Amino acid sequence: MHEASIALSVLEIATENCRKAGYARIESIRLRVGRASAVMTDALLFAFDAVKIDTIAAGATVIIDEIPIGGLCKECGKDFISEEAYVLCCPECGSTSFKINTGRELEIVDMEVF
Ligand SMILES: [Zn+2]
Repeated sequence: MHEASIALSVLEIATENCRKAGYARIESIRLRVGRASAVMTDALLFAFDAVKIDTIAAGATVIIDEIPIGGLCKECGKDFISEEAYVLCCPECGSTSFKINTGRELEIVDMEVF
């Protein structure tokens, strides 16, 4: 399961940041997850609840901001945002020549520590 290893690395990064900053407890972690990152947010939350047990993040809540897919069409030059998980062609002109600019994010935005 792909989400389990992501949950684990999120936990590791968060734990390291928290310790480095001299805090002992993680209260919440905010993640930015792009719709094109192929991460199932429900599965990620579920996996995080399992890996956080007995860690300094045991009481932590994970908040996920989903980022829609955005791109730039090379054919008509339009910037577009899609609500779908996949973009197969430009929503404006139907061209398959486009560049995805957002939606692949998978990062920690911020966290609350005590
Ligand atoms: Zn287009």
